[in-house]
Amino acid sequence: MTLSVAPHRESVGLTDGLLSVDGEWRPARDGATWEHRHPATGEVVGSFAVAGAADVDEAVRASRRAFDEGPWPRTRAGARIRVLRRCADTLREHADELRAVQALDNGVPLSFGAIYATSVEAAADVFDHHAGWVDKLGGQTLPPYQGGDHLAMTFREPVGVVAAVLPWNGPFLLFAQKVAPALAAGCTVVVKPSEHATFTVLRMVALLHEAGVPEGALQVVAGPGDPTGEALITHPLVDKVSFTGSRAVGRRIVEASAATMKRVSLELGGKSPVLVFPDAPDVGLAGMTAMGMVTMGLSGQACVAHTRALVHREVHDQFVDAARMLAGMVSYGDPFDATVTSSALITEKQLDRVLGYIDRGVQDGARLVTGGERLGGDLEGGNFVAPTIFADVDNGMAIAQEEIFGPVLSVIPFDDEEEAVRLANDTEYGLGAGLYTADAQRAFRVARRLRAGIVGVNGFQVEPHVPFGGFKQSGLGREGGQSAFEAYTELKTVLMPLTDELM
Ligand code: NAD
Repeated sequence: MTLSVAPHRESVGLTDGLLSVDGEWRPARDGATWEHRHPATGEVVGSFAVAGAADVDEAVRASRRAFDEGPWPRTRAGARIRVLRRCADTLREHADELRAVQALDNGVPLSFGAIYATSVEAAADVFDHHAGWVDKLGGQTLPPYQGGDHLAMTFREPVGVVAAVLPWNGPFLLFAQKVAPALAAGCTVVVKPSEHATFTVLRMVALLHEAGVPEGALQVVAGPGDPTGEALITHPLVDKVSFTGSRAVGRRIVEASAATMKRVSLELGGKSPVLVFPDAPDVGLAGMTAMGMVTMGLSGQACVAHTRALVHREVHDQFVDAARMLAGMVSYGDPFDATVTSSALITEKQLDRVLGYIDRGVQDGARLVTGGERLGGDLEGGNFVAPTIFADVDNGMAIAQEEIFGPVLSVIPFDDEEEAVRLANDTEYGLGAGLYTADAQRAFRVARRLRAGIVGVNGFQVEPHVPFGGFKQSGLGREGGQSAFEAYTELKTVLMPLTDELM
C-alpha cells in the first residue's frame, strides 16, 4: 500500500495559510497561492497565500511605522522581558501541535521533532535566553582622550526593520534564533518562511501574537524566493536582512544589500569534517554518531552535519563498520509513526541532486559501501534515498567538497594529525567540525587549528546560549548568545561635555 499522510490533515487541524500584514491575516492582494506537496508522499496537503511585491511592500511599510512610531521599540525592558517569556511558555504549551504541523509541512518525523536540538523546547529556550538580554542592553562610559572635560558614552539601539528569511529544515529553532534576538533588541520583524515549511511558521507567528507581541512588530509574508523573497531583500525600508539558507541565495542577498547598505547576517551551508584519531575513546560511537548526523531525522539535510569523516587508517575499517551498522537502523515512512526516524528529501529536485552526487562519487572512483539508491515499495511516491556511505574518498572529489544535503557520508583516510588538519581545512566552507581523541592536549591543539565556527570534541550539541555560525563561505555573523543579540543593534556614541565646551 502506498504511503499517505493526507488523513492527518484533519487531526492536525491544518487550514489554508494566510499572510499576516499590518494587523490582519489575509490572502494575497492578487489572490496567488502555493500548493504544498508533502515530501514523503507527493500529496498536496494544503495551500497558502503567496505574497507578491504589493503585499511585501505593505508589510514592510507597516513594520517601518511600528518601528518609528509603535510601542514595541519603546516598550520598557521589564514589559518586553515578560512578553518574550510568555512567547517561550506559549510555544512550549503548543509543542505537540507544532511538531504535528511540521510533520505535514517538511515531513520531519514526530520522533525527531522531539530531539532537543530541533525541538520546540529548544526554540522556547532561545526566547527565554534572549529575554535575559533585554535589561542588559548597556553601553560604555569612556574618559576623555584629550581636550576638555567630557565623557564618551555608547548606546546599543535596535537596528530597525528586520527581514528574517528562513530555510525549511529547522523551522522551530531557526525562526527563534532570528525573531527572539530581534524582538529582544526592540526591532520590528517581517518573516519570510521557506515555501517548504510555511504552515509551521504561520502557526508560530500566530502564537507569538497571542503571547503579546504586537502584530505590527511581527508579520509574515509567505512565498518562494521569487517574487516574495526578492521583494523583501530589495525593499529600501528594510534595515537588516537576517538569512539562513544556501550559499547561492546568501550571495544574492549580499549583492542586493549593496544598494541601501543593509546590515546582513548569513547562516549558510557547510561541508563539516569530523576527525577521528586512533586514540578516540570509542571509534564505534564516532562512526555511529557521524552516520546518525547524516541520516537520522533530516536525512542529511542539516547545515552542520559532519558529512566528511576524516579517519586515521588504523581505525578506518572499524569506523566504517559502525557507520554501516547505524545505516541499517534508520527507518522511513509515515512521519506520524513513532518508529519512523528519518524523513524524505524535501523536493524531487533535491532528490535528483543527491542521486546525481552519488553517481558522481562512483564515477570519480570512491567505494560505495552501502546505499546509493532510491527507496521503493510503499515509499516509491516519496523522495527517499537510502543511507549512503562512500569510503576511500579523495578530498578533491565533488562528494568531499560540495554540500550534498542528503544522507551521504564521505570517509577519507589520513595518516597523521598534520594531514588531518590540512584536509579538514581544505574546503570553501567553515561551519562546524568535530574531533574524537582521548588526548586533551591534542583536542585543544586541533580544535584551535580548525577553520570552523563550532567544534565539538567527542560529541556535538547545539545550545541556545552559544554562538553558532560559519567561517569562510559558511556565513557572516553568529546566532545564539550575546553576539546574536548585538547583531540586531547599532552602536551609537554620544559625546557629553561636563563643562561648557566639549573639546
Ligand atoms: P534556500 O537558500 O534555497 O532557501 C532559503 C530561503 O531563501 C527560503 O525561504 C527561500 O524561499 C528564500 N529564497 C530563495 N531565493 C531567494 C531570493 N532570491 N531572495 C530572497 N529569498 C530567497 O535554502 P533551503 O533549501 O531552504 O535550506 C537549505 C540550505 O540552508 C542549506 O544550504 C543549509 O546548509 C542551509 N542552512 C544553514 C543553517 C545554518 O545555521 N548555517 C541552518 C539551516 C540550513
